[in-house]
Amino acid sequence: MRRYKGTAVVRGIAEGRICVFRKKERQIEKVCVSDISAELLKLEEAKEEALIQLGALYEKTVKEAGPESAAIFEMHSMILEDGAFNEIIIETIEKEQVCAEYAVSVAGRRFEEMFANMDDETVRDRSADIRDVTERLLKVLLGEEDSFSPQEPVLIAAEDLTPSEAVRFDRSKILGFITHRGSQDSHTAILAGIMNIPMITGLEIDDSWDNSMAIMEGFSGMLVIDPDEEMKEQILGWGTTYAENVKKLRCLKDEKSITRGGREIRICANIGGVEDVAAALDNGAEGIGLMRSESLYLKSSRLPDEEEQFNVYKAVAEKMGGKEVVIRTMDLGADKKVGYLGLEDEENPAMGYRGIRICLDRPDIFITQLRAIYRASAYGKVAIMFPMVVSAREVRMCKMHVKEAREQLKFEGKPIDENVPLGIMIETPAAALISESLAKEVDFFSIGTNDLCQYTLAADRRNDMLRGIVDRRHPAVLELIRMSVENGHKAGIKVGICGELAADEELTESFVRMGVDELSVSPSNILILRKKVRDMEI
Ligand code: PEP
Ligand code: MG
Repeated sequence: MRRYKGTAVVRGIAEGRICVFRKKERQIEKVCVSDISAELLKLEEAKEEALIQLGALYEKTVKEAGPESAAIFEMHSMILEDGAFNEIIIETIEKEQVCAEYAVSVAGRRFEEMFANMDDETVRDRSADIRDVTERLLKVLLGEEDSFSPQEPVLIAAEDLTPSEAVRFDRSKILGFITHRGSQDSHTAILAGIMNIPMITGLEIDDSWDNSMAIMEGFSGMLVIDPDEEMKEQILGWGTTYAENVKKLRCLKDEKSITRGGREIRICANIGGVEDVAAALDNGAEGIGLMRSESLYLKSSRLPDEEEQFNVYKAVAEKMGGKEVVIRTMDLGADKKVGYLGLEDEENPAMGYRGIRICLDRPDIFITQLRAIYRASAYGKVAIMFPMVVSAREVRMCKMHVKEAREQLKFEGKPIDENVPLGIMIETPAAALISESLAKEVDFFSIGTNDLCQYTLAADRRNDMLRGIVDRRHPAVLELIRMSVENGHKAGIKVGICGELAADEELTESFVRMGVDELSVSPSNILILRKKVRDMEI
């Protein structure tokens, strides 16, 4: 039995086999070969295998997400069979007398560069697909597994997990996440919280753990490899107590969140996609305070089109049955990167090209998303929220694009809700400081404390070295929150909090006293918070 102590980031207990997830840093060597026909045959067989894999992926995706989402795999098959692509591979093998792996990597690189330099944006976006296809073919040639797909539910241990990796795993195969890097405010931790997957960070991942039985708990952050019966019972006991407490709270599911003194605060859920709606409703969410729409983009290997987005937003709006759904427009950039956007590496990505900055720069992407949201507004109660705002000018530009999308749809005779509320996230100190003028531009504010803390305290939210050093309840952060609430109310608009601080029970009373109208948290935190509010004397 080996015990390790990390930092708990998502509550819960998980027991099972550990699967160590290592990302491969691949160096393809230029190996000279003498038997050219053997190399060509190897290439042909690998291509056939890759096509079979793509066919299976296509079928799986059609079943799980519909034919539109699956179309990407058809396109990958086409690339794999593309004449020019294959010509470069074959020519390289024949002329340079080198191995198929090297020839594939040469063709992949050349094709990717060629596409990346095209004027047409849609064609440019294809370079990520070329990379994907090349990678698949290389994996087959090198005899590597197609992808990380455990056969049974496992505890995933990884040095680090990006948000896109976290969303791409098959949920039914994940019991828990154990990582070295990452913090409570990291997007991966937030996603794990929404998916209700227990998570611990801050542990040095040891390859020897792979395949060992273990138990982890996301209360104090303990991982025990090969636990003895006594230890297992003890930890499972905590899990049972936690589950019982959660069960007791269930009677509050349909209750309001009102203090004994009569102050009411709405408690809503943060979600990533339609798959989280059941948990939100099951935990008594009064609405969706934040739908991180970028999850949709992270799951995809190309820009999701209007129809795909519309189907997701519509499904969420319908499932919420008239309760408000605040859809935040795509907040990509920083740690939420997608290959197909071709975002450049930046010195300080968190303070760089992200969120609304990308959208205002790429009206094609922005208008597509706004059209999809507006179309969904005909099927429920939808609101739109813009992230990473620092100026009133940006808000006015967003509204201009909104008007454009709305008018296009009206002209096309598509049904929409003409009065979709428009709000912004207050997640930069600049936005909080000018909240008085911003409040005149919008219908609501939602305070994003994850970024607000990061920018106010000069503390990278992903840097776990700052854990215990930086106080997220810093008076400067609380003052910016207070100020935003006051300015929002002066203009007659509602102000909520949707960052992780919203779930901090130590601050709930302060938030209620400040007059915060709404707290939006992971579904599993809703009932705990509701009880907290209802027990308050104020
Ligand atoms: C925030 O910054 O607090 C927030 C809710 O947005 P995200 O965590 O997605 O950046
Ligand atoms: Mg944010």
